[in-house]
Amino acid sequence: MGSIFTYISDDIMAHYAERGTCDWCQSESDLYTFYAEDNRGMADRSCVNCIKTLPLRHIYKKDNERLISSLINERYPKGTKSQDQRFALTVEMCDDYRRTPRLPNFIQNDDWPHCCGDFTEFIGDAGQSYTDSYDGFEWWGYENDGAIEYGIEGMMGGEDRVSLFRCLHCPKKYWTFQCT
Ligand SMILES: [Zn+2]
Ligand SMILES: [Zn+2]
Repeated sequence: MGSIFTYISDDIMAHYAERGTCDWCQSESDLYTFYAEDNRGMADRSCVNCIKTLPLRHIYKKDNERLISSLINERYPKGTKSQDQRFALTVEMCDDYRRTPRLPNFIQNDDWPHCCGDFTEFIGDAGQSYTDSYDGFEWWGYENDGAIEYGIEGMMGGEDRVSLFRCLHCPKKYWTFQCT
């Protein structure tokens, strides 16, 4: 689990940082891809502090946020939490997930892999921010996707990135690829 963002490994943050002036706080800072909008306009990059503190309603929703209540139910089986606790956990995960910068290659939709009732941790793009072993990664995406037969190494190096994730609760790892 990342200490800066739950769903992004600390080790790869620097790879995605772009030095610049944050549109929200005007500080000179490391900026990350992140969509937010208020009555002053829209920005597609923000500093970590603004990502953490902007009002949630100003931050663009991710496409699959509606999954979150079922993830909470998967993580905490029947009888382990009250309805109020489930609601609080859902709100908390939604906050955490929406405040996650858009670093993986989700060109088509925010299909962030999930496992064990939680979103997984983004650990980098194959051959770029991740250069470790490619063994043991499972495909995350449509069952009949053409990328599957090429595998991670077959899809690397093109104009689109192969993004890699690991479960925060079990040893499973996932790879995904979305093309432009
Ligand atoms: Zn800022
Ligand atoms: Zn898992």
